[in-house]
Amino acid sequence: MSIAENLARVKERIVGAALRAGRRPETVKLVGVTKTVDLPRIELAVEAGLEILGENYVQEAQEKLRRFQGRVRWHFIGRLQRNKAKYAVQLFDLIHTVDSLKLAEEIHRRAQALGRVIPVLIQVDLAAQETKGGVRPDEALALVTEAARLGNLRVLGLMTMPPYFSDPERVRPYFRRLRELSEEIAAGGHTEVEMTELSMGMSGDLEVAVEEGATLVRVGTAIFGERP
Ligand SMILES: *Cc1c(COP(=O)(O)O)cnc(C)c1O
Repeated sequence: MSIAENLARVKERIVGAALRAGRRPETVKLVGVTKTVDLPRIELAVEAGLEILGENYVQEAQEKLRRFQGRVRWHFIGRLQRNKAKYAVQLFDLIHTVDSLKLAEEIHRRAQALGRVIPVLIQVDLAAQETKGGVRPDEALALVTEAARLGNLRVLGLMTMPPYFSDPERVRPYFRRLRELSEEIAAGGHTEVEMTELSMGMSGDLEVAVEEGATLVRVGTAIFGERP
């Protein structure tokens, strides 16, 4: 199948899952994950209507960003080292992976220097798999609240990377837990905290994520094919 066909198929899957869950399909945004994907293949996806691209590496993103300047929005979805925060703040429209106050403060400081307010999500590690990054669920409220106080950073919601299961139903409890956590935080009465975005779901489990409330699904393989 071509990239355009893959993209159409992914969009159909999102629409189907949203309708099954009684949600409006347009409340779910598709982030096309472009790590290791070369420019011509990204070009095909953008021509076919992909509007948001997700990158894991600041360095890899730089050339791609120049090429697609103004045509798409860019999200950062990888682990962000503090010494790269400066570039991330310049390059991206949304950072999905803030998981410490130190990182939030560095992003705030760099955004302030540029006169920008940068939207971010707080990454939550629901399964204590430390290698993937993320704050523990019982620390999420504190981090959301403290990050939301930093003036040049806007916390819009939560993100998670659950453990991999071949059966997507086994991921459902993690997605549900992230939504519940987001509802708990939103109900906490912190006026400066918005909890409107939930970034969860990838190629293999995006239906389950949408059924559980995802507003951003991050899809690589199902659009661009297997990575090397
Ligand atoms: C690679 C990656 C994805 C996409 O995974 P696929 O299974 O290829 O859809 C999503 N989110 C993050 C953070 C990733 O690193």
